[in-house]
Amino acid sequence: MEIFQISSEITPLAKVGGLGDVLMGFSRELLKKGHSVLPIIPAYGAIDRAQLRPLNREEWFDSRFRDTPIRASLSYYEFDTALPVALLDTEDGFFRNEKTIYDAHDGASAYLLFCRAIVDWMIATHQAPDIVHLHDWPTAILPTVYQTVTKQEPPFRTVFTVHNFEYQGRCSWDDLSQIGLYQHNVPDPSRLADPVHDCLNLVKAGLLSADVSTTVSPTYAQEVRTQEQGNGLQEVLSSLDDRFIGILNGLDSTYWNPETDILIPKQYGLSSKPRPSSRVLEGVRFAKKFNKKHLFQSIGIPLIEGAPLIASVTRLVPQKGTSLIKDLCYRSEEMNTQCLVLGSVPDHQTEQDFLHLDSFLRARGRGAVFLANNEAFAHKAYAAADMFVVPSIIEPCGLTQLIALKYGTIPIVRKTGGLADTIIDLDSTSGIPNGFMFESADVNALVQTTHRALKAFHNLQRWEELMVQGMVQDHSWTKPGNAYCAVYAGDN
Ligand code: ADP
Repeated sequence: MEIFQISSEITPLAKVGGLGDVLMGFSRELLKKGHSVLPIIPAYGAIDRAQLRPLNREEWFDSRFRDTPIRASLSYYEFDTALPVALLDTEDGFFRNEKTIYDAHDGASAYLLFCRAIVDWMIATHQAPDIVHLHDWPTAILPTVYQTVTKQEPPFRTVFTVHNFEYQGRCSWDDLSQIGLYQHNVPDPSRLADPVHDCLNLVKAGLLSADVSTTVSPTYAQEVRTQEQGNGLQEVLSSLDDRFIGILNGLDSTYWNPETDILIPKQYGLSSKPRPSSRVLEGVRFAKKFNKKHLFQSIGIPLIEGAPLIASVTRLVPQKGTSLIKDLCYRSEEMNTQCLVLGSVPDHQTEQDFLHLDSFLRARGRGAVFLANNEAFAHKAYAAADMFVVPSIIEPCGLTQLIALKYGTIPIVRKTGGLADTIIDLDSTSGIPNGFMFESADVNALVQTTHRALKAFHNLQRWEELMVQGMVQDHSWTKPGNAYCAVYAGDN
């Protein structure tokens, strides 16, 4: 099959969160399965061009933006292990001139232009893919643009994946008019109306125009059909029946692999052995300790013998349970733990709160907070930590707990969305345990669960059993890749 993956992120070129990782891992899996895959993203100025190998193919075409004819282009590159990518830009560098990703241009304008230009490119260059797979609100309007511009249904199958229903792309007819879409020329404009607010909703338009829509875990697919988590779209989602399904994300097991990860000081692993010898386990123990020492040396904090390192790598937004992360870190002395938070901050208040936590931890030698989006540091944190906390209030799938499992770092998670689908508590009576889980979104539940984890940590044999169970589990893209291929073929 020929598949276009239209997205605002792909790791490592343009990554804000899990969407980038998904695009990379999933595209690689489709290539492996023998499909022709083309990820298309905006040509952000923030992309490190040194990672790209030009394929000397550039296609120029006419498009329209703000009532003005423009020239735009799609340039083809290869990166990573022969994964192709096409970067879209305008002649005057609309995307290239901006250094950041989502807040590059106000509102939805940049991504509306992105969708319009892709449709114009497809028409101008007679593209005939089997599948156009759209990801999240920035790409959701593409089928509507196609219908409006061509006055025909798309001759390809469209699949729309929502990675997070918190972000729905709310905008106005004024915004859409920039790409030539008006209430009078869009087929069935009511499809775009936000169910709650007096505005338009790009995700709703995507859900109602795609052939099939998906989200990133089966539990989240159920949760968003409820009023509590549907963010206003619960009725639309329920009406879609089996045109809306949950497929658990995979993890790119080449990129996230402690045996080959060049971003960590000491590589380690079980050499694919589900029952590793005590020597192999000793090697893992040694390497993780080495990585921890290395990381703590680099931040100038001595390790406290016997105190496990609890890490968090996250966007510091409320849905990630940021106040629970803070509460847990503030108890590091009484619980005898050390803590490391790597967080990207969305606002000034969160920044202040976490800077305060940083001073608290450093003053007591209990850890540190790094407020940055730093891919290399994230790899080091996964490899160094003993435990990894993901106390999300809402978690569509969550990749960090899967990465932690691969790196032998035991997840402590709240039971929601994809966390509920991937983590089995040590005390569970069914399934193979790989971590710790609590249900109520309050600090007492988190602290109690962390105490259970601490108890297990001090029983080396029990702890290493848990680590091995997590490390050998298959969270690769093989199974989700098959599920998406079934969706592509109409067999879901
Ligand atoms: P989300 O997509 O909601 O942010 P996921 O758990 O699905 O959450 O994916 C998070 C991805 O982003 C992981 O690869 C994680 O390592 C990475 N990440 C999150 N925050 C940071 C950060 N501050 N620095 C580096 N990487 C980060």
